[in-house]
Amino acid sequence: MAVSDHVDFPTFMEGVKKRNPGQPEFVQAVQEVAQDIFDFIGDKEEYHEAQILRRIAEPDRVVSFRVCWEDDNHCIRVQRGWRVQNNNAIGPYKGGIRFHPSVTESVLKFLAFEQTFKNSLTGLPMGGGKGGANFNPRGKSDSEVMRFCQAFMTELYRHIGPDTDVPAGDIGVGAREIGYMFGQYKRITNRWEGVLTGKATEYGGSQMRPEATGYGAVYFMQNMLKHQGMDVEGHTAVISGSGNVATHAAEKIVQLGGKVLTLSDSGGFIHDPDGIDQERIDWVKQLKNVRRGRISEYADHFTNATFHEGKRPWDVPCDLALPCATQNELNEEEAKELVANGVKAVSEGANMPTTLEGVKVFHDAKIMYGPGKAANAGGVAVSGLEMSQNSERISWNHERLGEMLTELMEGIHGKCVEYGKQDGGYVDYVKGANIAGFKKVADAMLAFGVV
Ligand code: NDP
Repeated sequence: MAVSDHVDFPTFMEGVKKRNPGQPEFVQAVQEVAQDIFDFIGDKEEYHEAQILRRIAEPDRVVSFRVCWEDDNHCIRVQRGWRVQNNNAIGPYKGGIRFHPSVTESVLKFLAFEQTFKNSLTGLPMGGGKGGANFNPRGKSDSEVMRFCQAFMTELYRHIGPDTDVPAGDIGVGAREIGYMFGQYKRITNRWEGVLTGKATEYGGSQMRPEATGYGAVYFMQNMLKHQGMDVEGHTAVISGSGNVATHAAEKIVQLGGKVLTLSDSGGFIHDPDGIDQERIDWVKQLKNVRRGRISEYADHFTNATFHEGKRPWDVPCDLALPCATQNELNEEEAKELVANGVKAVSEGANMPTTLEGVKVFHDAKIMYGPGKAANAGGVAVSGLEMSQNSERISWNHERLGEMLTELMEGIHGKCVEYGKQDGGYVDYVKGANIAGFKKVADAMLAFGVV
């Protein structure tokens, strides 16, 4: 019989900090989840005895490797790649690959940790992982990106597989990069198998995958609003980012009768008081995905819009806010500004975009706040459906997948309400998502014994 270990929350966090020096993003992510879990497991001896929380906060493994490639000037470049396999209690590791200069082990550990709970919330059999490299695709030629992707996969392929670990895209990894990596995996292994998701539909990709994260974040927003008797229609929305998630979130807001006022990138944000309609969203998609330009060009092209260099969009008054760029892009001051300007709901398309202090501001003001691990789970959910289609060698149509996505987001919202309902009708979606996500993984781990 194992000995029960009831450490309190501060002692637990001390240990996490000590074991993960120089990894602030990871510590922040663990802290955010652990404070809710501590309340939940307070009287549940079996979780303490099996040290479940301590085990979930320790990745199954972190693989780090050298990625050597040759640029167009024949210079040899050296990057660092990682795959963090956090937890496979309920299914194969699953989570995106990020190529961005800001990628570190801490960032990927935080993302893999979050992914574990997010994947659990979808109800599909997927564990949590994340990978990436400190490589910046911006400004690189297609050939350079191809050589980098091939070099990256030449090491990664030995750690992944359709029943082991199934990566997908993330920041800096879109259809082009997935294509290059899938091609290299197929070349090395001589196997066509569903080892990556986010593939193009010509070679096993799923309909609806590109739209799924952004649309899903808006469906989550819609569910939160409905729960309080409101709707998206007629409301203004401020969105950050201008990539895959942001542009599709904007598209769905417009389809539901809302008005999108902003988009951004790491250079600043554009504010279009007339609203960014479908035609303008298509222009942004072309700008970002084909011309690989900067969002500042929007204000040169649509002259009623203004560009705010080096700034984030959170001081623009709005009803709805959707952070869809990156982690820690909405801080305490900005959260206060949103609340002062009358924001009604926040739904996170990005992963952990709001700082812990910012989240507290939303909670104290009783703003509907959907954390990324619930609100942006639509992307990985459709990735899970891509895995199913690949295994069965079938493909479902856009309409059917659209219905499945809508149902999945409704289901995730329902689980958050079940565990996050507070006196007075307010829903603590963070608590709801953390507990619902944790419970399924924890119960599977209990079933396996000490492994
Ligand atoms: P993209 O690469 O398509 O777009 C990222 C956007 O965020 C770009 O506009 C980029 O601007 C901006 N951005 C990146 N880093 C920063 C920064 N440090 N400061 C300001 N802006 C920044 O990525 P996605 O749209 O796929 O991902 C966006 C977020 O959504 C990420 O947090 C990702 O983890 C999360 N997510 C994505 C999923 C998906 O299916 N794609 C699934 C679930 C979550 P710039 O071009 O200047 O870098």
